[in-house]
Amino acid sequence: MLLDWLVPPLCIACRHATCARRGDPLCAPCRTTLPWLGPRVCPRCAQPRPCGRCPAARHAFARAWAPLGYAGPVPAVVNALKERGALGLAGLMAAQLVATAPPDLWPAPDDGGAALVPVPGDPWRRRRRGIDHTARLARALAPRTGLPVAPILARSARRPRQAGRRRAQRLRADPADVQVRTGRGGPDGPVGVAVLVDDVHTTGATLHACALALKDSGVRRVVAVTYARALA
Ligand SMILES: [Zn+2]
Ligand SMILES: [Zn+2]
Repeated sequence: MLLDWLVPPLCIACRHATCARRGDPLCAPCRTTLPWLGPRVCPRCAQPRPCGRCPAARHAFARAWAPLGYAGPVPAVVNALKERGALGLAGLMAAQLVATAPPDLWPAPDDGGAALVPVPGDPWRRRRRGIDHTARLARALAPRTGLPVAPILARSARRPRQAGRRRAQRLRADPADVQVRTGRGGPDGPVGVAVLVDDVHTTGATLHACALALKDSGVRRVVAVTYARALA
């Protein structure tokens, strides 16, 4: 594109003007520092083994997985998707997720109503940004996994009392705030196996709240897939 020639694209992590190849949001040096977690991760909490007292032991999702640690250039990638909805980024993230996922992670599309379920964002933040980034990521995963997207979760829009609370606590969903939208199943009927899709797995509290709501509504099994895992 003429624009790329006139204004070279910037690497979204280090902002160097000259290093980003067209269509690749990260420059070559940043790409080499991506913190891939590899296969030695706990299947419950997605942290590198050993995870000690597994933080997911009491969580309602059966399994969690993420390809990357939330470190190095990863926060910049997540932020670009979240704040700007950077074009092409959801596709790149989905491609990385699918290329590195354990072979048994994705349920078969005909496995009793398996579907990708985006974790609903904080309605106040979404209203401000106008970008539903987890839905965007789920839609990019759909053709790559063969699973339909079922946006059946919602978070209540009542403004939480936030004074004095840490940012991470404010953004965390309370189980009472997550609802399953009745009458909204996958394209072929009710969801039986849900693959929750989110950008970052931090404490697991939001994923747990979503999994609880799904299981209360009759979903048999919940798997949590995120682009990155915050490391303890
Ligand atoms: Zn860079
Ligand atoms: Zn664990």
